[in-house]
Amino acid sequence: MSIACIIVAAGRGTRSGSAIPKQYVEIAGKPVLRHTLDRILSCERLDHILVVTHKEDAKLYAKSIDSIGDHRLLPNVIGGDDRSGSVISGLSALQNFDCKTVLIHDAARPFVTPQQIDQIIDTVSPKQGAFLAVPVVDALWRTEAALTSVDRDALWRAQTPQAFPYPEIVDAFSKAKQGATDDVAIAISAGLDVVPIESSERNFKITRPEDFTRAQEELEQNLDIRTGNAFDVHAFAEGDYVILNGIKIPHDRGLSGHSDADVAMHAITDALFGGICEGDIGQWFPPSDAEWKGADSEVFLIKAIDRVAERGFTITHIDCTIICEEPKIGPHSKAMRENLSRICQIEMDRISVKATTSEQLGFTGRKEGIAALASATLVKA
Ligand code: MG
Repeated sequence: MSIACIIVAAGRGTRSGSAIPKQYVEIAGKPVLRHTLDRILSCERLDHILVVTHKEDAKLYAKSIDSIGDHRLLPNVIGGDDRSGSVISGLSALQNFDCKTVLIHDAARPFVTPQQIDQIIDTVSPKQGAFLAVPVVDALWRTEAALTSVDRDALWRAQTPQAFPYPEIVDAFSKAKQGATDDVAIAISAGLDVVPIESSERNFKITRPEDFTRAQEELEQNLDIRTGNAFDVHAFAEGDYVILNGIKIPHDRGLSGHSDADVAMHAITDALFGGICEGDIGQWFPPSDAEWKGADSEVFLIKAIDRVAERGFTITHIDCTIICEEPKIGPHSKAMRENLSRICQIEMDRISVKATTSEQLGFTGRKEGIAALASATLVKA
């Protein structure tokens, strides 16, 4: 039995004042929907994630999920005319996934936490649904006729995710009256218990133009900025060229190593793995594995770049220092930066390649090999 989450992203967002639907507006470098998806994907208990989109948003959606390699993200489905039509589309698309529990979440709520999702999942049973909500704290007044106060005790403002036992909510929607719009109301009218789980104001829904500013401020407070660094050495051996950051440089010696011995690219790769705390090249590509003999080190770097993206980080800066007496690096540094820019898909002005000698001291000074250092800065909003 699996647990699924439907993200409803088919709305047109007319109140937000933006030119495109609000779930695709970029905040801190990523569309709102991508922020939401990254939060949802970080919850390991979810087995399937399904986004319901509008038929006109294919390009915007494709851009929003760019480089997500998580197999739990199912192909999107097209929504209905209104929110409940979209929820029904999502529920039917999950029919062959043996779902026990389904969560329904708004694309425009990018601040839900994995802990809140866990709490919701733990509360749902075959007889009971649950939803995030905040207790009403302001005094409430009704203005229909004479001004009358409304008792705010026991009043809640609903948020999402809302979560239900899957077979029961499918049944409830099939019996729901035409025009019924609220998932919780539909569940209750079909006889399910539904309980609120206290949430916070931080899980707000982006609705009005000023909400984008508030979301931007929230995201900036939560920026996860990391620096990975690394060091690598390869010894000189017989040969007539070396490869550094993918550039072949003629030399009277080569570098020895299991792969192509690109010491600079290895340092950068390890700095990226270091930034996400996922080991190093040796763990991902063991030297004992014959497959990597003579390998182009670009393969290793691409793996690290993919992992960084899968973990939701963006590479904002790479700095690499090559330490050797020979060959001269300066004339090749621009070509190296261009090559790294192509592989990493980031601008050249975010990539530095420089060189130094060790003043004829130590193994690099004795021209026994080449050493390289690298730092990489990674940012997750
Ligand atoms: Mg190496």
